[in-house]
Amino acid sequence: MSGKQSIVFIAAGAMMLSVWMMRRESKKKSTSRKKKDQKQRDRQVDIVSKKAAEIAMRAKSKEEETEVTEQEESNYKSEWSEHLPGHILREQYKERRRKEKLPMLAMKSQMYDNITMFCPEGRQLSQISSKKAKWYVQKQLATWIGEDNKAIKLTFEPKARSDEGDYGRSLKQNICIACGDGEKYQMRFYIVPHVYRTLFPKRYKTHMSHDVVLLCADCHLKMGTAANNRMNEIEDEFNPQQRFATNQRQYKVRSAALALLNWRHKIPEQKISVHEATVRQYLTEEKTPIPENDLLTNETLQRIIDVDYRIENPNYIPGPVLVVNSIVNDQEKMADFIRSWRRFFVNTIHPRFLPDGWSIEYAVACDEKPTA
Ligand SMILES: [Zn+2]
Repeated sequence: MSGKQSIVFIAAGAMMLSVWMMRRESKKKSTSRKKKDQKQRDRQVDIVSKKAAEIAMRAKSKEEETEVTEQEESNYKSEWSEHLPGHILREQYKERRRKEKLPMLAMKSQMYDNITMFCPEGRQLSQISSKKAKWYVQKQLATWIGEDNKAIKLTFEPKARSDEGDYGRSLKQNICIACGDGEKYQMRFYIVPHVYRTLFPKRYKTHMSHDVVLLCADCHLKMGTAANNRMNEIEDEFNPQQRFATNQRQYKVRSAALALLNWRHKIPEQKISVHEATVRQYLTEEKTPIPENDLLTNETLQRIIDVDYRIENPNYIPGPVLVVNSIVNDQEKMADFIRSWRRFFVNTIHPRFLPDGWSIEYAVACDEKPTA
């Protein structure tokens, strides 16, 4: 190796060494920065969880209250807003409100009374509600069997259709049919969404309890959200018109009036003048001008805010009506629609506690029920 070559070799070696040392140094720095960041994140999480625990404690002590005041809402928001983004705050707030409303939305009494109805020869017909059983007895169409009033025997031979097959005869437990919970709040769930079902002809609704089931609040929320999404998909195919259009002029003056009424102290002078000019011009056009030296009173602003800025579309047909209209005169389409919702229910929530006889293929109308 010549002297020149060895100098180049040594220089290259030194360069490599220094690059390696620099990398090592920067790796060290980045590791310590990562550790520092992690520590900071941990602290943040710690603060947030402490806040959450505090708020949860306070919320618990207020469990009795069902209504939340605006003050509480804003306190709650401000306590969290230091640490979490707005959309998460909103979701958390909505979730808290939902839980507070549950006692009001949940069923007040058990959904199934399971009173067994027998025909005069003693053949079991179906399980009915206590209300229905009492009605039969009062009308002298049935008598109680036994002393615990858990069964009735009809005094007349019913038409074949009163025999509801396995589903009608099966005992229905008062538990969530999806997860089996019997403790939490329970709610009635319409497998074919109520907005559609309510538009169906009578034969698809009367005596058709098969598609109205019991879910706990958690499963109800999960299933309800999924059903809403599916409804939107179905209805979008009909390109429903918007129900309201916006009167832009009214909307603009309303925004200006709202800003002046609620945020005057927070907006810059220049912006205030623009809003005032918008409101004054509107009042002049409406032939109720305010003299230039007079202030715009809160009453005047409120009067403008109260004017409806929406224009109702006279040709608007609600999505559910479009959907039901497209199937209601075709029995096959009706059956497919109802069964598609049953299938969707099963595939979404995977119910583990379906009553005996419940099936996707079960009759869709009361006059189609099994007569065996
Ligand atoms: Zn459940």
